Amino acid sequence: SHLTTTGSEKPRDKLLGGLLTADFDEDSCLSRYHKSSLYRKTLPYKPSQSLVSKLRSYEMLHKRCGPGTDAYKKATNLLGHGDVRISGDECRYVVWTPMFGLGNRILSLVSMFLYALLTERVILVDQRKDITDLFCEPFPGTSWLLPLDFPLTDQLDSFNRKHSRCYGTMLKNHAINSTTIPSHLYLDIFHDSRGQDYLFFCEENQAFLGKVSWLVTKSNLYYVPSLWLIPSFRTELIKLFPQKDTVFHHLSRYLFHPTNQVWGMVTRSYNAYLSRADETLGIQVRVFGTPAGYFQHVMDQILSCTQREKLLPELDTEQVTTNTSRSKKLKAVMVTSLHPEYSNNLKNMFWERPSSTGEIIEVYQPSGERVQQTDKKLHDQKALAEIYLLSLTDKLVTSTRSTFGYIAQGLGGLKPWILYEPRNRKAPDPPCVRAMSMEPCSLTLKAPLSSCQAKTIKMSPFVRYCEDRIRGLKLV
Ligand code: GDP
Repeated sequence: SHLTTTGSEKPRDKLLGGLLTADFDEDSCLSRYHKSSLYRKTLPYKPSQSLVSKLRSYEMLHKRCGPGTDAYKKATNLLGHGDVRISGDECRYVVWTPMFGLGNRILSLVSMFLYALLTERVILVDQRKDITDLFCEPFPGTSWLLPLDFPLTDQLDSFNRKHSRCYGTMLKNHAINSTTIPSHLYLDIFHDSRGQDYLFFCEENQAFLGKVSWLVTKSNLYYVPSLWLIPSFRTELIKLFPQKDTVFHHLSRYLFHPTNQVWGMVTRSYNAYLSRADETLGIQVRVFGTPAGYFQHVMDQILSCTQREKLLPELDTEQVTTNTSRSKKLKAVMVTSLHPEYSNNLKNMFWERPSSTGEIIEVYQPSGERVQQTDKKLHDQKALAEIYLLSLTDKLVTSTRSTFGYIAQGLGGLKPWILYEPRNRKAPDPPCVRAMSMEPCSLTLKAPLSSCQAKTIKMSPFVRYCEDRIRGLKLV
């Protein structure tokens, strides 16, 4: 499974079961076709034929409507002309803008891409932050980057709940009628958006929104479960994803191909610390609240979870020196955290004492950035590299309601053990819970988001409340 070996290795499924197009030049973005060679096991999840053909036709749509095309020019010209009617064969778009940390961004981007697939819109991403330092282009022969001279570029930052073009605000002010169709609208889809904003998730509102050429969105949520609760979308989603809990897994592996710089970090760490191990364990430690940092109760919780779930061995209390007759299995533990102390402690524990099973435990943490520094290029690149490294492990422990961990579990097709949120500075009992599915949780404050979904939520055996957020929803 060593990355640098060629020739003798068995042929890998470099197109991930048809998920990826073969239309790219291999060397332009090393991660695109080389990724599968890093996965230690063949992943059991294959994309459905409907998803594969949907993606191929999306790629054609994006090529026809993308930046630089006549269709794009025509559509941007509309923006100068207030309220318009479109005839139906014009291209329609969604503009995605980055909000919050990297995990949040990836979640909202995947959600918006799924919405684009379902509604035959073209997705364009705001490139003013560091997205081009993180990801290669996903669609062949075109670009997903919103051109910098896009007519609304200067307004993007001012879109918020109070903006006159905010859909929820317009609904609230009764400023929407079905005869005048605005050329563009702003959608506000956050964990704390208003009831009117969440009307986006209602069937009848979708009928209206379908006529609007440009939708600009800001979001920090994985709102795929709420899309699943829109009846007309659900019919199609069931065809695209017969295995309901693979939505994020397939779409994230389709969309995200780290740049060569990030991929270099991934492969260097992988080859140095993970590739030779008999087994690998990822532990993602996210400490919310202020002050964040090292806490003994969090350390205790990590140990009690990993030992109770037999992810790590106990320490040999008799302090015997190395027992040579026992297994020499090498287990590599990849810890990621802003704080370096957790992995340091773990490393020391397994150095100072032998493990009760005789396994050799190697502990590694790629970075310890101390504080979140979103939009700093190298910081974000490290975060992305670490998310990928976690996704490559055999077993994974994540922290409650952390989107960073959600991305790793989804990319890797892993059902993690989730560390519960500590209360009153004590390690919770039980310390962790096994996730029901690999899907991210939609971290909403109430579910369903809108009363129009109240009925569907009850009828949906595949949408449940999350393990780590009682009012959040996830696909299972
Ligand atoms: P969430 O806040 O846990 O839901 O995850 P986000 O990714 O949205 O935001 C947290 C941000 O903090 C990340 O994007 C990183 O910039 C940083 N961060 C948090 N945990 C880690 C970590 O384990 N490693 C690295 N390199 N950065 C981290």
